[in-house]
Amino acid sequence: MTNSAPILFVTRDDDPDANAWLTTLRAALPEADILSFAAANNKQRQHCEVAIVAAADTDKLSSLPKLRWVQSLWAGVESLLACAALDEVLIVRMVNPELSQTMAEAVLAWTLYLHRDMPAYREAQSQRQWSPRPYTPASEKRVGVLGCGELGMTALARLHANGFQTLGWSRSPKHLPHSQHYQGTAGLETMLGLCDILVNLLPATEQTRHLLNADRLAQLPNGAALINFGRGSVVDDAALLDALDSGALVHAVLDVFEPEPLHADSRFWRHPSVTVLPHISAPTPMASAAAAVSDNLRGFLQDGTVPPSLDRNKGY
Ligand code: NAP
Repeated sequence: MTNSAPILFVTRDDDPDANAWLTTLRAALPEADILSFAAANNKQRQHCEVAIVAAADTDKLSSLPKLRWVQSLWAGVESLLACAALDEVLIVRMVNPELSQTMAEAVLAWTLYLHRDMPAYREAQSQRQWSPRPYTPASEKRVGVLGCGELGMTALARLHANGFQTLGWSRSPKHLPHSQHYQGTAGLETMLGLCDILVNLLPATEQTRHLLNADRLAQLPNGAALINFGRGSVVDDAALLDALDSGALVHAVLDVFEPEPLHADSRFWRHPSVTVLPHISAPTPMASAAAAVSDNLRGFLQDGTVPPSLDRNKGY
């Protein structure tokens, strides 16, 4: 690295957190020259080998001819992987225990929201109805999690600690300490048939696109509920709306959509059985994320080591 090759911080022009990220990253790695894309001159852009990326702006990244690796500040990196100009660039995604705990907290919070019938009580109040509902203990509720990676494993542990029966599904075989594990298409169908609440924590890939289609949603028990905190593309929206309209699914809590922000005319906004969240279930925690990034960058500055990057064949 030379003075003409700073580390560039790249994000979308409308990112409200851009300045805070830059300040936090510089504080975590004071020995490095971290510049925003806008502040870099042409020579610096021509020599840039490493970019730290928040909200991915692939046009900016594509204009860096010597780029070797991208450190994402986000866990989901599908837009970076989809950019043909970055095919030869190594992508390192955000893995951060604090982020996993934040997501686990959100999964627990919205599981409890569904488990304790809060949408129904909110509706009853709006109608001035005094309508107690039967209580089922958490130990009799089964919560299935799609994806047993960094986020899924932590969420399963938190759900188990709160007394729920837990089930997990992923691509590769796993031993889950307190949960039943399923894999493959047959395993998915078996698990769906058992879930009172289904939580999606899968990444967006070709294989996961519309994984939750009409047939799969129909495999859930009548009256089941869905939480989607992974990616919007995993769910077929039309099929989900049909399942909610018919009452086969009792409620959906949706934090991720395709595209985002959710269109103003989407039926999800006003559907009585839908809770819409603006992609807030697990924001990247700035300080600990900057610390994780600085560990990776320090190795690179010292001896050129690039941290483990994503396997493009898997697509996540
Ligand atoms: P991760 O560690 O890569 O885990 C992904 C999991 O999904 C793994 O268990 C993987 O299986 C499984 N998987 C992927 N493709 C599959 C397929 N075709 N069939 C079955 N299982 C499959 O990712 P993570 O850190 O847990 O993050 C998951 C996703 O959460 C991110 O990609 C992002 O989209 C989303 N996210 C959302 C928010 C938010 O605020 N809403 C915040 C952060 C992240 P294997 O274990 O067998 O590889």
